[in-house]
Amino acid sequence: MYMSIGRSIKERFEQGKPLFSVEFFPPKDDAGGERMLKTASQIQPHQPDFVSITYGAGGGTRATTMRYARLLKEEHGFEVMPHLTCVGHTRDDLLEILEEFAQAGFRNVMALRGDPPKGETTFKPVPGGLSYGSDLVALIRENFPDFGIGVGGYPEKHPEAKDMDSDLDHLKIKVDAGADFITTQLFFDNPVYFDFVSRCRNHGIEIPVLPGLLPVLSIGQVRRFCTMCEAGLPSALEQSLEAASDDEQPVVGADWALHQTKELLAGGAPGYHLYALNKSASTLRILEGLQANRG
Ligand SMILES: Cc1cc2nc3c(=O)[nH]c(=O)nc-3n(C[C@H](O)[C@H](O)[C@H](O)COP(=O)(O)OP(=O)(O)OC[C@H]3O[C@@H](n4cnc5c(N)ncnc54)[C@H](O)[C@@H]3O)c2cc1C
Repeated sequence: MYMSIGRSIKERFEQGKPLFSVEFFPPKDDAGGERMLKTASQIQPHQPDFVSITYGAGGGTRATTMRYARLLKEEHGFEVMPHLTCVGHTRDDLLEILEEFAQAGFRNVMALRGDPPKGETTFKPVPGGLSYGSDLVALIRENFPDFGIGVGGYPEKHPEAKDMDSDLDHLKIKVDAGADFITTQLFFDNPVYFDFVSRCRNHGIEIPVLPGLLPVLSIGQVRRFCTMCEAGLPSALEQSLEAASDDEQPVVGADWALHQTKELLAGGAPGYHLYALNKSASTLRILEGLQANRG
């Protein structure tokens, strides 16, 4: 079933209707791939405005990201935005990958620097590679001017940044290089998002800021993620997860994300992006909860 969706993500934002998107990651093996595609078909009736698929550390998922991005587009008719990072790639590699994206009919890309390899604290580009997300945005804008470009934003500061102000100065460079919208790192406390958006506006960053939400699956998972991303874990969420059984924890996590989403939309967020982690139950609970709210 192929359904062509003829609008770029930028144009969807311009329609002013809140949009929603779902993020997948490239599966490790065929069994994981089947699970991911099953999740995609369960989400499909809710018609996300777009889905994205991440690009693994070190460029090692180049082929898998491409394969599953195509399947999501061709079998499910999704508007697919593949991610791309600078890690391990020269400028020429990146141009070649972008050409593959264009040939496959993708018209949007999430442009990222990527993380330093495990054990290293600073990012070093390969010879002939790019140093920052903004360099990749500029490369795309120059060579593929029609691509829609998403970039990452960090409401609680990127872990490597000295302070929030310098991080926002760098975000402004990335936006001025040609980004169309920002998707945020996960956060669990909505005032953090609203404060980030107003700081962006004060820095002259005017593009949409799409909040990224993680429906938590377990207390162990959220503690790990929060440590990695240096995101705050509200004590109310932590206590609810601690009090819940293993089976109930994903429900607590989904309900927290549902509540966050309702409040974000009511407060004027341009939509919401769900870090679904290739699983459907929590995402469906949130989508159905939002539908019940509307109906
Ligand atoms: C929505 C989203 C999706 C993601 N998807 C993926 C994925 O698919 N694959 C993956 O590997 N990772 C992914 N990440 C993680 C991301 O790669 C890391 O957070 C990475 O460390 C930063 O990438 P960036 O493009 O945001 O970096 P940049 O915007 O380049 O910023 C990185 C750091 O450099 C600083 N900086 C930026 N420009 C300058 C400058 N000109 N001078 C000095 N300092 C500067 C910034 O303040 C920041 O501290 C994602 C993150 C988000 C928020």
